[in-house]
Amino acid sequence: MLLSAVAAFAKPTIYILATGGTIAGSGASALDSSYTSGTVTVDKLIAAVPEINKIATIKGEQISQIGSQEMNNEVWLKLATRVNELLTSGKADGVVITHGTDTMEETSYFLDLTVKSDKPIVFVGAMRNSGSLSADGPLNLFNAVNVAISKEAVGKGVLVTMNDEIHAAREVTKTNTTAVDTFKSPNSGKIGTVFYGNVKFYMNPIRKHTVNSAFDITKIKELPRVDIIYSHANDNPDFANIAIKNGAKGIISSGMGNGNPFPTVLEALGEGVKKGVVVVRDSRVGTGETTLNGEVDDAKYGFLASDNLNAQKARVLLMLALTQTTDKAKIQELFLTH
Ligand code: ASP
Repeated sequence: MLLSAVAAFAKPTIYILATGGTIAGSGASALDSSYTSGTVTVDKLIAAVPEINKIATIKGEQISQIGSQEMNNEVWLKLATRVNELLTSGKADGVVITHGTDTMEETSYFLDLTVKSDKPIVFVGAMRNSGSLSADGPLNLFNAVNVAISKEAVGKGVLVTMNDEIHAAREVTKTNTTAVDTFKSPNSGKIGTVFYGNVKFYMNPIRKHTVNSAFDITKIKELPRVDIIYSHANDNPDFANIAIKNGAKGIISSGMGNGNPFPTVLEALGEGVKKGVVVVRDSRVGTGETTLNGEVDDAKYGFLASDNLNAQKARVLLMLALTQTTDKAKIQELFLTH
């Protein structure tokens, strides 16, 4: 009886896994806009926000110390494996991941698709470095820990908490190079808010993620090469040709409008499909669905369409899909369900 009462009041254990980024960045002075990402260690990040120790038992681990423009498959596999271990073993009740904002939308979606737990997994970063005037990192971190201990965050997949907002990993994208309100979910909107630790959810992500995803990090040892080819007026097929020649297993075509490549690029991508490359049409527009057989005859060329994922998220999903199959119908189905 006494033991269960103690258990009922025990603080949740939250692991903070640090990867680098501006939240862990430092510059020469509080008003200096130049700085270096990932110089501040996880212990110092935690020490800067003592309030989090009142609401959770906090443990820190350093996964990497990089600007997220350096993010790579090795760190993704290491991070997803560690988060999976911590949550499935019961060592952690939730995980907060500090991360640079440049590729947070990709790493968070990678974990959303590969970690098999419904416990909260919350990404957080900052747009102003730790020594900056009005640094946003400390309050963002406090809010992220509050989201990670929230019962309502259970089962919502991987979340991104920045600037008092909570976003689903599949939907969120960085929309402004420098502003603190840079993270938006253009197709669906934010799913919740967190105001000085007060967590409120308004929506549930319904696409397959975490425990319902087709992917499992314990079964993935390496990831295939998938390139993104960006389209523009008066384009040429050189990048598509070189990607195919240099061994890309998949290509995300970030086309114009509803995923339209320039005519010569269209033909080059079609040749790629004949050589076994899986080509998924996406759009450079940034919102909306790229629809199958719109202005492009996908059936003729053997192309797939990305639904409404942006190109960098479509790339993550295609990499994972190619770890399982090269069957185009199966891959298209994954794009329609995840
Ligand atoms: N370049 C930095 C990074 O992504 C930017 C940031 O964290 O805000 O690591």
